[in-house]
Amino acid sequence: MKKTVFMLFQPTALVLIVVLWATIPADWLKVAWFPTAISIVTLLLVQTLEFLNERHAGWRMNIRELLTDLFYMILFYTVIGKLETWLFDDPLLSAKESLGISAAWATQLPFVAQVALTLLVFELGQYWLHRLMHNSFLWWTHAPHHHITQLNAVKGLVGNPLELLLISIGVTGLLDVPLNATFCAFNILTAVAAFAHANVRFDPPRWYAYVFTTIETHSLHHRVGFLDTRCNYANVLILLDHLFSTYREGEATVVGQDELRRLSIAEQFLFPLRPLMAWRRARSASTPG
Ligand SMILES: [Zn+2]
Ligand SMILES: [Zn+2]
Repeated sequence: MKKTVFMLFQPTALVLIVVLWATIPADWLKVAWFPTAISIVTLLLVQTLEFLNERHAGWRMNIRELLTDLFYMILFYTVIGKLETWLFDDPLLSAKESLGISAAWATQLPFVAQVALTLLVFELGQYWLHRLMHNSFLWWTHAPHHHITQLNAVKGLVGNPLELLLISIGVTGLLDVPLNATFCAFNILTAVAAFAHANVRFDPPRWYAYVFTTIETHSLHHRVGFLDTRCNYANVLILLDHLFSTYREGEATVVGQDELRRLSIAEQFLFPLRPLMAWRRARSASTPG
């Protein structure tokens, strides 16, 4: 019975999220904090599942991890969210208006298609950005996320602030879909990213694991060794990894980088400066004193 409930949990949750946003009273959409509150509730609900059906004892939540996860959750939904709106969303909408860009055809689509389109557009951008992060200097912003030594529901938000800002950027603002479809797509993104980092034994149906990222495929992305992380890039739609030939089957129980040392929040913040600090150290060592 418990096995079946957990097996069906992820697909059922996604259906319920679609029903919630399809039927939400229009007045609630005007409440600025409402979508954020739903995202936070989603993350915390997924975290509580760990206490009901744990995946690995080595990833068990403790007070240090919990405080770190809560710190990043607050940072993401306050400072990072505001910065992203100010630096990217607002200029994008102004450009859309002044250039007369329109995607009015999207308003004619059924609700589920509007949600799927928003999800796909955002995920396509995220897939290529994430792949670029693993194959360029952007790794220095993304590496702190890979230095985490255990996976839990909110860990998708643990990383360097620069990376958190980059992973918030998308062009879904160009799509003319109603607000509830946009909020629904982002609620699904939050839920699947939480499932994919959660220390929970779901063991979902095969069709679900073919389309959506799971803890199995995402833990493999988190395994030790920089080159071994170059697979399963999709945060939410693992279907894209199948499509672009970066999919790898399996799962990892040991996650992290280098000597598996957990970074402090200060180290996560300063991580992108490491190449500069290494260069300065090398320069002063080579300078005759
Ligand atoms: Zn990565
Ligand atoms: Zn991750």
